[in-house]
Amino acid sequence: METIISVKDLVKNYGKFEAVKGISFDVFKGEIFGLLGPNGAGKSTTLEIIETLRNKTSGKIMVDGLDLDTQVNKIKQIIGVQLQTSGFYPGLNLLELIQLFSGLYNTKVDALELLDTVNLREKAKNKYKEMSGGQKQRFSIATTLINQPKIIFLDEPTTGLDPQARRSLWELIRNIRQKGTTVIITTHYMDEAEYLCDRVAIMDEGKILALQTPDVLIDELVATGFERPKHTKAANLEDVFINLTGKEFRED
Ligand code: ADP
Ligand code: MG
Repeated sequence: METIISVKDLVKNYGKFEAVKGISFDVFKGEIFGLLGPNGAGKSTTLEIIETLRNKTSGKIMVDGLDLDTQVNKIKQIIGVQLQTSGFYPGLNLLELIQLFSGLYNTKVDALELLDTVNLREKAKNKYKEMSGGQKQRFSIATTLINQPKIIFLDEPTTGLDPQARRSLWELIRNIRQKGTTVIITTHYMDEAEYLCDRVAIMDEGKILALQTPDVLIDELVATGFERPKHTKAANLEDVFINLTGKEFRED
């Protein structure tokens, strides 16, 4: 496994409050790496520091061989960051927004081809504000790809989406990884983490409690004698929901 991101003893204090308490982890090239943990665990802080959007208090971070302390601009060129959706001009259409962002990145991009990868080509002339929640999320993921990055960061990309939109995003994220891009994602949905992530780090109160493949983590828990209180059925309520309303992703 080739390491693409290495984080060593990362500390982030907000005033006297220690949000991240000396965590270390590596992300491998080409994997989907999940950062999991309850609200306030320090996930977004950690991501934003690696994304060069926040300053760290201490620690060492290398991104694709580049040192965060001295090579911020080079790092920016090889990473894709989800822009805050509130920053999108609601009255511009998707093509115009992509042109705008590619200008910011100082790069040229085939906007229609990019919209194709997130299944929004037909919406090219639609205004941002006219899109559904799932479409907005897909578009926001498209914006991470504008500079053809080696690594993209997705902070809770599926929060608030319906089950169909969530699944459609899973396939999109898998496709992005399929093309060789490393993905770092946070989520509160454990089924999503299990489906998508090659490895997950489980954080709480600024520390990493476990870092492994979902499979190994589950096996380790089972090996301690843990058993689910109820026998699980062959299907769950989400299966019922999908079965009744169809697997097909709906735009609205
Ligand atoms: P997560 O993404 O896991 O929910 P965050 O990284 O957003 O966690 O936050 C970690 C902790 O740091 C929380 O207790 C949060 O309130 C605090 N925090 C985050 N950003 C700031 C900030 N700019 N100033 C002060 N405290 C912050
Ligand atoms: Mg967060």
